[in-house]
Amino acid sequence: MARSVLKFGGTSVADLERISHVADIVAYRAARGEKLAVIVSAMSGETNKLVELARGAAGEHVTGPDFNDEYDVVVASGEQVTSGLLALSLRKRGLKARSWLGWQMQMNTREGHGAARIDGFAEDSGLSEAVEAGEVAVIAGFQGVTSEGRVSTLGRGGSDTTAVAVAAALNADQCDIYTDVDGVYTTDPRIVPQAQRLEKVSYEEMLEMASLGAKVLQTRSVELAMNHQVPVRVLSSFPAPDADNPGTWVCSEDEIVEKQIVNGVTYSRDEAKVTLYGLEDKPGVSARLFALMAREGVNVDMIVQANARGPERANIVFTCTSADSQKAEQVLLGSKDILNFESMDVTRDVAKVSVIGVGMKSHTGVAETMFEALYQKNINIDVISTSEIKISVLIDADYTELAVRALHTAFDLDAT
Ligand code: ADP
Ligand code: ASP
Ligand code: MG
Repeated sequence: MARSVLKFGGTSVADLERISHVADIVAYRAARGEKLAVIVSAMSGETNKLVELARGAAGEHVTGPDFNDEYDVVVASGEQVTSGLLALSLRKRGLKARSWLGWQMQMNTREGHGAARIDGFAEDSGLSEAVEAGEVAVIAGFQGVTSEGRVSTLGRGGSDTTAVAVAAALNADQCDIYTDVDGVYTTDPRIVPQAQRLEKVSYEEMLEMASLGAKVLQTRSVELAMNHQVPVRVLSSFPAPDADNPGTWVCSEDEIVEKQIVNGVTYSRDEAKVTLYGLEDKPGVSARLFALMAREGVNVDMIVQANARGPERANIVFTCTSADSQKAEQVLLGSKDILNFESMDVTRDVAKVSVIGVGMKSHTGVAETMFEALYQKNINIDVISTSEIKISVLIDADYTELAVRALHTAFDLDAT
């Protein structure tokens, strides 16, 4: 009998009415004979409120180990509420169901609090046996337990990762991510109404799309799905349980017959650009700079180095998230004498826009089409980075939507 993992995001469990609809979907699938584990997020908006509460209580101590462990205790509570509510709603329909919190199913995590990584599941939690016996396991997403027995959370959007991890651990036949859109689109349908739903998207492309800003799936969930070959489907929780609702399959590249050159356009406004002027142009300077950033936990993305005007001097530009840029700025100012640069500039009014597609591996001219489309809209490109299946550019944040629309059209992705 099929084992399935279903995950419902914040909008899908936003109130009792929506939870009741989710219970209808779960009951429908159970009646078809599927053995089910259901992962829930907090009600929409709830996690944001909890984050603010934790920050409000902590005052000045809003970062660091003194904050992060209790932050996790606070923000994990949103998922506890919805898991209990859905379990009750399922019991009302006569189903056997119970809630499972992260520590109860023993989803062990490492690398601290706030953005913990999943290590694995203890074998003796009883979760697998309960599902096998036909009880619906209603699992609080986003939360786990550290080796010290403390509550941890997986970073924003982390319930997707809980779902895929549970699917891998239970050896489920599929992992259905129910959300407020009916699949993965060629770009965010909220900003491009002509975006089209993809029938299938490869793990590789989805990984790039997620990490470059398409927040429909948390990046780590895609990584896990790819590593464990979990078939993931993204679909809408809004239609009736028996409606035709194909969604988008995230699967191996070889299951996709027609490969597009470009399948998706993404954007991220959570970017900052750091420019260091007048560094010494000699071996070891970059190594020292980026070792420092790594030590401080600044996740560096794009990097460009160019000769500066002065003799034997260079400028280095790099990007990171705006949150990390504050840390970077402080650390760099504190290390000005060691790194020996002349001046520094940090700007947060930038956005990264990317085009993604496995077809790029075998086609040329993608960069040309991209740059021409941006030029036609008079959008200046600040930094460029590429991989085998994506090209990203950094632009002025004011032009983000214009750029996304222009690229969507230029790569023939608009629905007719
Ligand atoms: P959930 O609360 O269910 O986890 P999220 O808000 O995290 O849902 O993710 C769904 C949202 O992702 C959609 O409402 C949509 O605006 C956004 N999104 C961004 N890029 C894409 C894309 N390429 N395809 C589909 N949705 C996207
Ligand atoms: N509730 C958490 C968040 O808003 C986790 C999730 O929804 O996936 O980030
Ligand atoms: Mg989400």
